[in-house]
Amino acid sequence: MEKLIRVAIDGPAGAGKSTMAKLLAKEMGIEYIDTGAMYRAIALKLIRTGTDYSDPEALDAVLKTTDVDFSDGKVMLDGEPAEAYIRTPEVSEMASASSAVLAVREKLVALQRAMGQRKSVVMDGRDIGTNVLKDAECKIYLDASPRVRAERRAKELAAKGLPCDVDAVEEDIRQRDYRDMHREHNPLAKADDAAVIDSSYLTIPQVVEVMRAVIEEKTR
Ligand code: C5P
Repeated sequence: MEKLIRVAIDGPAGAGKSTMAKLLAKEMGIEYIDTGAMYRAIALKLIRTGTDYSDPEALDAVLKTTDVDFSDGKVMLDGEPAEAYIRTPEVSEMASASSAVLAVREKLVALQRAMGQRKSVVMDGRDIGTNVLKDAECKIYLDASPRVRAERRAKELAAKGLPCDVDAVEEDIRQRDYRDMHREHNPLAKADDAAVIDSSYLTIPQVVEVMRAVIEEKTR
């Protein structure tokens, strides 16, 4: 049987995880699984159905009838492409809050584990190396300073014609980091056996190069 290679990439929002994960998965010819998109898809469903995630019965009813999957690398909600709707500030806020709820995490972690058992994957998120794929062959914790992440985000928004105040973006990033790192269930943390890469002062090709070296070393 062909050897499975699971690359787990964790880190805070805006560190560049999905950019790097996509590039590496393509290069390695394996699938990329964006677990953040799965939390966003659930958040979208909660918004669309007007569900209060702090009401356990209502949440349970929605989770039981919600299907989250990937098709051609794109997240699907109840069989429909969801990517176009899940990157709005409203969905980001709902995903950050509802991903702290145990029932939401249990549902998605079970799906993610099943995906990582069958095939080689690059999976990114907050709890991949510490919880979802604890036995991943290669774990990377990708970090960058809050200021640098805010500047990157402000640049992206400006490119879309949406100039913003970088101090406000940084404050928002700090609040999300706090929520991710201090939640009760599977908080964002570096796995003991993860390689730490700080992307603050590296270009995309430089980060990919370092990651490639880490993957080669760990999967040799
Ligand atoms: O990575 P992204 O910003 O798309 O993730 C959306 C939200 O889902 C984040 O606010 C994060 O708190 C949550 N998340 C999580 N666990 C993961 C991936 C994302 O709690 N493995």
